Amino acid sequence: MKLLTNAKIFPSLNSESILIDKGKIIFIGDKNKINLSLNDLDIIDCENKSILPGLIDGHCHPLEVVSNMGSIDLSEIKFRSADDLKKYLKNTNCKNKKILKFYGFEHRNIKGNLDLKFFDELNLNIPLIIKHRTGHLIFLNSLAIKNLKININDYKFPVDSQKIHQKISNQEQSNFKDNVEKYNKLLMKYGYTTIVDAGVNNDISKFNTYKNLIKENKLNLNICYMLGNKNVEQFKEIKSNEKLYIGPTKFIFPEEISMSEIEMILKNHISISKNDLAFHAISSDIIFKILHTLYEKLNKFLGSRLIRLEHATEFLPNTFKVYKDKNLHLIFNPNFIYDHGDFYIQNQEDFDIDSIFNLNDSYKYKFNIGVGTDSPFGSINPINIISSSINRTTKSKNIIGNKNKVDLFEIIKAITYGNAKALKKQNKIGTLKVGKNADIIVLNEEISKSSTIDNLQINHTIINGKTEYARNNNNLIY
Ligand SMILES: [Zn+2]
Repeated sequence: MKLLTNAKIFPSLNSESILIDKGKIIFIGDKNKINLSLNDLDIIDCENKSILPGLIDGHCHPLEVVSNMGSIDLSEIKFRSADDLKKYLKNTNCKNKKILKFYGFEHRNIKGNLDLKFFDELNLNIPLIIKHRTGHLIFLNSLAIKNLKININDYKFPVDSQKIHQKISNQEQSNFKDNVEKYNKLLMKYGYTTIVDAGVNNDISKFNTYKNLIKENKLNLNICYMLGNKNVEQFKEIKSNEKLYIGPTKFIFPEEISMSEIEMILKNHISISKNDLAFHAISSDIIFKILHTLYEKLNKFLGSRLIRLEHATEFLPNTFKVYKDKNLHLIFNPNFIYDHGDFYIQNQEDFDIDSIFNLNDSYKYKFNIGVGTDSPFGSINPINIISSSINRTTKSKNIIGNKNKVDLFEIIKAITYGNAKALKKQNKIGTLKVGKNADIIVLNEEISKSSTIDNLQINHTIINGKTEYARNNNNLIY
């Protein structure tokens, strides 16, 4: 049994003790009321710091993060011309590399034609793969095309193809498991206890990869695995458990799709699967098409299904308030305000930028709100989600949507309880109460509703009652 003493369960400022047995919280209150010898207990003194339910990353792409660990990050580099890019790539050290991989690239500020010829004329002599900031577009050279065994004439350039993404991620990674361990350590340090893999291509082979990584203790936290909508049949026989469970089916529709096509696709899916539904939903236009189809055309078929809008970037709470009592969950990525906000300011044309990731009005209308990092396309550090929601400040210190700021209490609720509810797991995780799973993080400070959180760190990460991370004078002891 484990006992946490002197713990302030946020937002309370009263110190209490929490007793944990078999992975569950069995008592919260005064430790003098526990009829057990303290000698028999594994005791963590929280030193009157705040504790929170373990953080949940409601939307991320874990194996993409791992794959990027072998790639070079371009997100901090501003290329203004094709020549800039040419110089940079030519100066990149290719020695001892079998393949040159980049991510976080933004091409829209570059004048000049970035076609296949451009990348071939760099004469790098090794395959080159450059992933766009959003993860959707890929720039590559002919050697990479040959390596992937694809016919480039089948695609537009740059390539936007889920098939190629899958081919790239299936490529052997020599230090894959080491990188998974590194990633796992990072997640523990950041206080995540559950993550949601929201990949639209998620299939059975990736599910089995997770299963093995968990079995080999490479991943310690709990994983919700969404299903790619084309792969649902593969999962008929699969049994979920607490460590790895099936989430909603994930859909992504092209921007120009008609509502009748959406209706057909969803009707079809609903007839073969009882699963909850999640939608890639960025523009207000596609959000309208999805919600209108679901609630005006298919409402009677939905049953108890939960609906998630992933990103919900241009969700307009006032426009959609008629749906606030539906089982609808908005999964925002407020960290994008910090990560990509300056890019949005320069390139946003037909939508009021101050209304993106509209957390405040969504709260006012009582929508269900969750959040996700969308890592590696957004920063993985949860502090970025929290501070972006509170401050709405970009990297260059511009403010996007002052009126949409929320307070620390609201954003912590979203990243814990809101995310748990969007997984139908609110009875087990997302809050700290007797009977719930002991997924707990101990902070390095006492925080209140109005605290600044710039120096916030995690002292302990406890998952299912087990301490998976402990910070000790900046040295990891686990
Ligand atoms: Zn995503």
